[in-house]
Amino acid sequence: MAKQIIFTLTMILTLGVFAFTINRLFSYFKFTKANFPIRDFGKRFRVMLEVAIGQTKIFRRPVIGFFHAVVFWGFCIILFGSVEMIIDGLFGIEKSLKILGFLHYIIMASGDVFALLVAISIIVFMVRRLFMHISRFEGIEMKKISHQDANIALSMILLLMISLMGMNATYVQMQTVASETIYGVYPVGTLLAKLFSGLSINGLHLAYEICWWAHILLIFIFANILPYSKHFHVFMSVPNTFLTRLEPLGKLTNMDDITREVRMMLDPNAAFEAPAADAPISRFGVKDVEDVSWKNYFDSLSCTECGRCTSVCPANTTGKLLSPRKIFMDLRARMKEKGPGLVKNGRDFSDNKSYLRDYVSEEELWACTTCNACAQECPVNINHPTLILDMRRFLVMEESSAPTGLKTMFSNIENNGAPWQYSPEDRLLWAENLEMNFR
Ligand code: SF4
Ligand code: SF4
Repeated sequence: MAKQIIFTLTMILTLGVFAFTINRLFSYFKFTKANFPIRDFGKRFRVMLEVAIGQTKIFRRPVIGFFHAVVFWGFCIILFGSVEMIIDGLFGIEKSLKILGFLHYIIMASGDVFALLVAISIIVFMVRRLFMHISRFEGIEMKKISHQDANIALSMILLLMISLMGMNATYVQMQTVASETIYGVYPVGTLLAKLFSGLSINGLHLAYEICWWAHILLIFIFANILPYSKHFHVFMSVPNTFLTRLEPLGKLTNMDDITREVRMMLDPNAAFEAPAADAPISRFGVKDVEDVSWKNYFDSLSCTECGRCTSVCPANTTGKLLSPRKIFMDLRARMKEKGPGLVKNGRDFSDNKSYLRDYVSEEELWACTTCNACAQECPVNINHPTLILDMRRFLVMEESSAPTGLKTMFSNIENNGAPWQYSPEDRLLWAENLEMNFR
């Protein structure tokens, strides 16, 4: 009974802290802008199955992709065991999901094997991070805290797996010594059980309880650390793939305000058809976090900081300042900085800083070739170019700020109807003395 009470109180505390953090992070969504409507559920579900569950993009780098996929699939399987532990803890029972019969055996066996595989994968990740110089883990945006964050999360996952394997091993040994039924199959646990063969039944029971509590408390602590770290993608990446922008990469979205203006110029009657035409135009493009769409912010919360986008970015690889990963890390950081002020003081709150310029510089934005390699490569389907273009739209449309070459091109288009500095009448001068043979 004491175990039940302690467990219930711990769980209430965990859920309370978690709900508080999530509520704070999600409260910032109401300051973001609308985006594409969520339709085509079937197609979205297929994208989610393929990219998130199937880990297809991760497998583009097959070796390390395999280890990552093992961790992801392992987490999905082990989750069932965690649910069982919660039910057991709340109601004071042992192996509550045994009512599932054969399915319980499969879940327990695969969870037990995956615990070992995930532990091995995490050790591989740690060795890569600590002892190998992997260039995509570096960059101006990868501060010391980013590396510490990753190392802490990896260490916690490793401890989670060790405690799970310890729990299974002591359970098998304890049931064997007491001649009790073993619910589930534990291939790894059975092998490791021999390590505990010297313990008495009381010692085994104590060891089991230590592993059980260590595992469940680590889950509770981990769940509450995640929202403060890049590992929040554990929660966000699967829904983010479901919410993928389904339009082809590179397709530009029209700006509603501009579309309306153009329609009115072409057909003044359109002004009467569209009541929203009187609505004030807030801002062209993106300057600060309240100008981004909810999807941009969702993307920023889903970013794993893996650097796959930056590693394929032609601007970055040729030494330009641009790093697509930084664009989203900066958005998350800026929202974290300004969000509380927005919640407290409303949409008009200003701290005299902005996402554009205080975080992302013009030089970074104009370095983008809009090739979409970053969006193509991102394992959680984040779309970088749309946000980069929206910031450029702000620079051009609100501040007339663009590199000199582009400004010349803009005025040429305006005056000559073409990007070149020639009058439209002179366009065919080049052909004046040519002999033409049209046969
Ligand atoms: S679209 Fe821009 S940011 Fe993305 S890879 Fe190409 S150049 Fe880099
Ligand atoms: S934006 Fe995507 S590819 Fe880039 S670091 Fe984040 S998760 Fe990785």
